[in-house]
Amino acid sequence: MNVFNLYTKLFSDPEKKVDLFKTFPWLYRVFYNQRLHYIWQTFLVDLFIILILSGLFGPQEPGSNIILYLCWGLWWPSVILSLFFVGRLWCGVCPFPVAGNFLQACHLSLQKKVPKILQRYSIAISVTFFMMIIWVEEATGMKSSPKETTWLLLTIWGGATLCGLLFAKQAWCQYFCPLGRLMGIGASISLIEFRPDHSACKKCTTFACNRGTDTEPGCPVSLGAYKVNNNLECLVCGRCMQLCEHQSPQLNVRHPLSELIIRKGRLITCTLMVPFLMGSQLARFMDQNIFNLMEIIELTCMGNWVCQMGLYAAPLFIGFCIVYVIITYGDLMFGVFNDELMGRFSPMVPLLLPLAFGGELVSRLNFTVRNFPDFLPTFGRQFGVEALEHFTFTIPEWVYPAYGLSIMFISELAGLYILEKFYEEEFEGAIALWQYRLIQSAYFALFGVYIYMMSTGWNIPILNIILIFQQ
Ligand code: SF4
Ligand code: SF4
Ligand code: SF4
Repeated sequence: MNVFNLYTKLFSDPEKKVDLFKTFPWLYRVFYNQRLHYIWQTFLVDLFIILILSGLFGPQEPGSNIILYLCWGLWWPSVILSLFFVGRLWCGVCPFPVAGNFLQACHLSLQKKVPKILQRYSIAISVTFFMMIIWVEEATGMKSSPKETTWLLLTIWGGATLCGLLFAKQAWCQYFCPLGRLMGIGASISLIEFRPDHSACKKCTTFACNRGTDTEPGCPVSLGAYKVNNNLECLVCGRCMQLCEHQSPQLNVRHPLSELIIRKGRLITCTLMVPFLMGSQLARFMDQNIFNLMEIIELTCMGNWVCQMGLYAAPLFIGFCIVYVIITYGDLMFGVFNDELMGRFSPMVPLLLPLAFGGELVSRLNFTVRNFPDFLPTFGRQFGVEALEHFTFTIPEWVYPAYGLSIMFISELAGLYILEKFYEEEFEGAIALWQYRLIQSAYFALFGVYIYMMSTGWNIPILNIILIFQQ
């Protein structure tokens, strides 16, 4: 099948899928034998240890320690970018749960069940963890401190290891990991999905993909291929494939917006995360641009990080309120936000989700691009390679609006496409034309706020709204 046919097939109908395991049998073998996963994970564990040592014992000046660029400039933006194409594939090779798994394999884990109360509030807990990370990350200048960056990595690793010690399987990944929660939501607009072939599962009597066998443990997040019906929780680790006797697991290429269109905002995780994520981005754009928000806050607080966190709460709160008001207003315009089976839901959230992850990518790429010219000199300063210390260059100013506008424009189109689908098909007849137009205006208003915030960081007079008015 050529790329054009695949594209036409997928985009003509959001329910169409193509199973990559069937199309490329070598890919099935890669996931089945797990060797590549093992090699990648081992490499990442080694890299993780080197980063930790470098962060704790290496130089602490931002321009002399490569941990900052590797962590904030390469790793995290790559994970965000990968969500659009391969979903949560990172989780399949992530180094954080390795120590906990090792303790379990040595029978050093208590193997308890996660208490019901923690299970019930796990979404709120992980979203709160995530909010705290963004808050601390921005308000304390963590991205320019090797030690603080290392402590963040160690905290996530510590959480995963402690859960491995106390609970069965990868409870951290299943319930508490803030990164996993964000990735699960981002993966709902991924081009691929890991799913079972339900016709094969109907014949199954063992459900080994979840329960495991006498010799092999089952799914690390107590899911098993047969229960995977969205991209939120499955780690795409492929461990269930060896356990399944019916070759049920599939890796499908799909319409990237199909999951959002089908669910229509029925997932509480997204409803909590999206307004915070977008609100925090608005605050971050204020900092990354000519407002120089953090500089003002740091001057006011004279280095006191508690004061900095307190003051930074204000832009975070304003950003959150802007997005929350637009979501509430849009939901009211939809007039459909209650379902007999599922309870309350928010049709505005799937509309905004592509914009939220587009904004996240732009915000993270800003760090990557801005600090890229200094990567080799930093490496040279840290390891005493003098030749690299002068190996720097300048990024042309047009690069920032080029990727910023492209990513936001594609995200905007994705949201408008979902809105049109809702209006014409999913909520057909439930929304009047005037309501549809008002939702569109709310959506454009938010898009305008984003572009305004982003543009103030572009050093090109005709694109920078503040500079236009100053002329
Ligand atoms: S959920 Fe978190 S700890 Fe678990 S694999 Fe994913 S990123 Fe790693
Ligand atoms: S995925 Fe395989 S093991 Fe799991 S229920 Fe389906 S057929 Fe059974
Ligand atoms: S369902 Fe399969 S691929 Fe998904 S997390 Fe469980 S074992 Fe891994």
